[in-house]
Amino acid sequence: MTQKLLTTDVLVIGGGLAGERCAIEAAAAGQEALILSLVPPRRSHSCAAQGGMQASLANCVKAEGDSPDVHFLDTVRGSDWGADQEVANIFAENAPVAVRELAHFGVPWSRVQGGKNHYFIKGEEVEIDEALENDGLIGQRDFGGTAKWRACYAAAGTGHAALYAIDSEVVRLGITVRDRAEAVALIHDGSRCVGAVVRDLRNGSQFAVMAKATVIATGGYGRIYGQYTSNATINEGTGASIALDTGIVPLGNMEAVQFHPTTLSPSGILVTEGCRGDGGYLLDKNMNRFMVEAEPEKQELASRDVVSRHMVQCMRDGNGVESPYGPHLWLDIRHLGEEHLRTKLLEVWDICRDFVGRNPAEELIPVRPTQHYSMGGIRVNKDGQAYGLAGLFAVGEAACWDMHGFNRLGGNSLAETLVSGRVVGRRVAEYATGTTLRADTGVAFDALEAAADRSRDWLARTGNGPSVYEIRDAMGEIMMHKVGIFRNGDELAEAVTELGQLLDDCDKAVLRCKDPGMNPELSFALRLKGMLRLAMTVAKGAQARTESRGAHFRMDFPLRNDREWLNRTLVRWGLDESAPSFSYEPTGIIELPPGHRGYGSDERIEMTTSLDDYNENVLAEQVRHGRLDSVEEMGSRLRRGARNANTG
Ligand SMILES: Cc1cc2nc3c(=O)[nH]c(=O)nc-3n(C[C@H](O)[C@H](O)[C@H](O)COP(=O)(O)OP(=O)(O)OC[C@H]3O[C@@H](n4cnc5c(N)ncnc54)[C@H](O)[C@@H]3O)c2cc1C
Repeated sequence: MTQKLLTTDVLVIGGGLAGERCAIEAAAAGQEALILSLVPPRRSHSCAAQGGMQASLANCVKAEGDSPDVHFLDTVRGSDWGADQEVANIFAENAPVAVRELAHFGVPWSRVQGGKNHYFIKGEEVEIDEALENDGLIGQRDFGGTAKWRACYAAAGTGHAALYAIDSEVVRLGITVRDRAEAVALIHDGSRCVGAVVRDLRNGSQFAVMAKATVIATGGYGRIYGQYTSNATINEGTGASIALDTGIVPLGNMEAVQFHPTTLSPSGILVTEGCRGDGGYLLDKNMNRFMVEAEPEKQELASRDVVSRHMVQCMRDGNGVESPYGPHLWLDIRHLGEEHLRTKLLEVWDICRDFVGRNPAEELIPVRPTQHYSMGGIRVNKDGQAYGLAGLFAVGEAACWDMHGFNRLGGNSLAETLVSGRVVGRRVAEYATGTTLRADTGVAFDALEAAADRSRDWLARTGNGPSVYEIRDAMGEIMMHKVGIFRNGDELAEAVTELGQLLDDCDKAVLRCKDPGMNPELSFALRLKGMLRLAMTVAKGAQARTESRGAHFRMDFPLRNDREWLNRTLVRWGLDESAPSFSYEPTGIIELPPGHRGYGSDERIEMTTSLDDYNENVLAEQVRHGRLDSVEEMGSRLRRGARNANTG
């Protein structure tokens, strides 16, 4: 007979970089950890990460003068002042440790070569002498929105290298992993989370795992944009969705969705920002470098939100290259040379050859912006603890920790997975050490029964209702075309209505395959409503936020409004409630006052409260909205004078 109830100390839902790094920390502290994953962990989406991981090592000439303070400043500017600055500080200070630790775990970082090096900067070839004593240190490349070269990389396979190294550590520590196992509901009593209901994707059986601490590390929800995403097919946001289902735990900033400027047209496969970091540039149909005029200072290396908007505008102005799949632009990396492409950008070389049949050393690459990253997610405090339910934590892309605010800088996500895995993992271990698993098993069996009812309901439906895949595709079209890079009130209102219709359709949808066991259609159907509910929180959040900030751009409210919108969206939506409810909390303690990012528009509506008054209000407001106490009262603070540091 299949076991219906398992127990462990720490249940980690997700076997990507964030989840595995967190489990390592818990196991190292003597806690028993169990990792769940939809796929074998090495096939998690982290494996696809290409271009690099940000850490202020200052190992090469163009990184000189870098420090955690400069990294912090770039991160906050990149976020368009949407980030929690305490968290951004903790992150920037820990990132160098996380990168060096990866070297220790076996990541083959690309290295600095002492002596004369040839680089391309702003379209010009330059020769730079790297100090001989730096030969062999971890190398760094340029990325968007940063003042210094800071992205550490392993060719263009950084995520692959990192995930294999971290997963080897999981194996070495003997941490149990159950793959093809999906958490489908959280087990909680209204104030404390004690595990999750799990569905075995191999045979459809369900069991409960009860744990002292539960960590959600399920990655992003890019697939609510259907085919218009660089994300893997498993990035369906199930972690955020089961947290939302509780009606207690809020999701933060769901409307903050990143679009990456360069994905292959038409497949949407990512072509790393490292291409532009290494000197590649964008061309329109007339072979014009439109980014030079649009952003004279940063050019192709402004932040992703800014570059994506310029690209879409360029195509709307009729300067895109027409193709049977719609217009695209060109990415030109030919001048970097075959040797560079086959070493430092090896994976890009392969992707171009395999997916568009082009040799990037001789031919242009067709690219256009596509959904890429979820800044929003399960709202957690500095310790990674979810608001509202003790014992529930979240890390990585699934979480809104929130160091990215309304725009994540390239390379800051890999770094976040490992930094938050370390930092939050320690907190999880402390929490689990200090608590016991004394909980009513009835609550687990009730959750198990409710999950079984959902499966039974799907299998019992008959008739000619719509297919789950039709609904999925319709959702993707709505999200890309009405909740995309440029948004406006009318289209957002249409999106909300149409998503509401799809939610109704979902209740009428019928499965083609009625097998209760290994049945991908049933597995997807069980996720579909959650995906639609997430899509609705994005659309409604975007509709409510009448300003433009980072990746959230409202054509009808084009200015960043620090007077009224220097805050974070929180949304709750219990399964028995007809509509989501929104509230807002201040962004967090501000050390770097709102200002110009250094790229994009400098026009904005200034805040009228003084910084001191704003900061005084922060803690009280966040507690009012459900923020839990943090182990540390404050994150680490900026060193005096760093705010004015020359960030070039
Ligand atoms: C193509 C691409 C390239 C990128 N390149 C870079 C880069 O160069 N630098 C950078 O900083 N960032 C990059 N990113 C972003 C970065 O890779 C991700 O944000 C990061 O890897 C997410 O890691 P994670 O551990 O949070 O989630 P993931 O790696 O997505 O892992 C999620 C895990 O959760 C599991 N899971 C999901 N739902 C469930 C469930 N319900 N039950 C059980 N398990 C579940 C999955 O099986 C998986 O193991 C890139 C992203 C993409 C799409």
